[in-house]
Amino acid sequence: MALVNEYFLRLTESYLFSDIAKKVNAYKLTHPKGNVISLGIGDVTQPLCPAVIKAMHEAVEEMATSAHFHGYGPEHGYDFLREAIVKHDYLSRGVHIDPSEVFINDGAKSDLGNIGDIVRWDNSVGLTDPVYPVYIDSNAMIGRAGTFADGKWSNITYMPTTEANGFDPELPDHRVDMIYLCYPNNPTGTVLTKKQLKRWVDYALKNDSLILFDSAYESYIQDDDIPHSIYEIRGAKKCAIEFRSYSKTAGFTGIRCGYTVIPKEVTATTFDGTQHVELNRLWERRQATKFNGASYISQRAAAAIYTPEGKQQIRETISYYMQNAAIMREHLQQKGLTVYGGTNAPYLWVKTPEGKTSWQFFDELLYSSGVVCTPGVGFGPSGEGFVRLTAFGKREDCIEAMNRIVG
Ligand code: PLP
Repeated sequence: MALVNEYFLRLTESYLFSDIAKKVNAYKLTHPKGNVISLGIGDVTQPLCPAVIKAMHEAVEEMATSAHFHGYGPEHGYDFLREAIVKHDYLSRGVHIDPSEVFINDGAKSDLGNIGDIVRWDNSVGLTDPVYPVYIDSNAMIGRAGTFADGKWSNITYMPTTEANGFDPELPDHRVDMIYLCYPNNPTGTVLTKKQLKRWVDYALKNDSLILFDSAYESYIQDDDIPHSIYEIRGAKKCAIEFRSYSKTAGFTGIRCGYTVIPKEVTATTFDGTQHVELNRLWERRQATKFNGASYISQRAAAAIYTPEGKQQIRETISYYMQNAAIMREHLQQKGLTVYGGTNAPYLWVKTPEGKTSWQFFDELLYSSGVVCTPGVGFGPSGEGFVRLTAFGKREDCIEAMNRIVG
């Protein structure tokens, strides 16, 4: 008899987006003429840029000839893309990464979920609250999160990221083996300065912890002094793995391509403490067994964003979304609302007025304006009292939504 992985049965159902859909459907039934604008879901709306489209067409043409056809590629990705990443994303910021430290994937979510394969199942985990739910659920699936009671997992240290601490979470007061950090942050849209991020690197080096740094939104950073990569902090190459994605950088949510950087210096220790094992080597081994590479066409598409035209074109789309964010911030503040984020990230974290709960304010925005947001409490207990709005909508929808809210 096959036995089930019972850790899956401990997972809490994620009702957030289905609860939102139910409420929106109920609203539509009672307001059949009402036009609902969704600023809730974090998906992009602008098309791929011309440089990417051209590269994809050329890659398809190559696949149509026996001379240039590509079958299975290297599991860790093609050298042309690894080398472009090293040069344009890292060397340009003074960070030296070797192409062999870059692993191309089919989007950051897969690697963020799978990275747990190469570390022991009983490591302790620290994460910021509110949080991107993949970090929790992927650990819960193999038992690393412990048991779930009173809204929290027993083996997870929750680090509240709140208005009270300026969205700069306190370091844990004890040792944690693995720490997830996401900056610019989803859902709060806030960032850390180099000094603030250095505290985490210093903590990890002192405690022999591993940092899993998700910088899926780094291309939205506007301020020069905000780090795009954790490796801009001295010592981080000894203790951090970095995850990046082309999804929001270049509209690849439907194409699927991203990458993970695992410097050779990053190690984890055997249980008896006698060996420090290179995680780069283990991940290479893991990928060779369980992954057959991102498609050639996606990787050619990704490489095109590093050409001068590609860079310029994706910059224009990012600036379009950031202008949406600026318009939304201005209107919401005009309405007297307190808004965080939206200046170095495509997310706005809006404080609910008059002490309303996240869901109460969600209902209010839906019924008074026909605008859909995401209740902050859906990302964790410290998200209560906030809602998240995304700047990924079409300009006309953002303006219409804001006019309706401000009235
Ligand atoms: N990390 C964060 C914080 C995200 O918000 C997302 C997507 O919304 C991802 C990673 C995953 O991105 P993808 O798998 O599309 O590369």
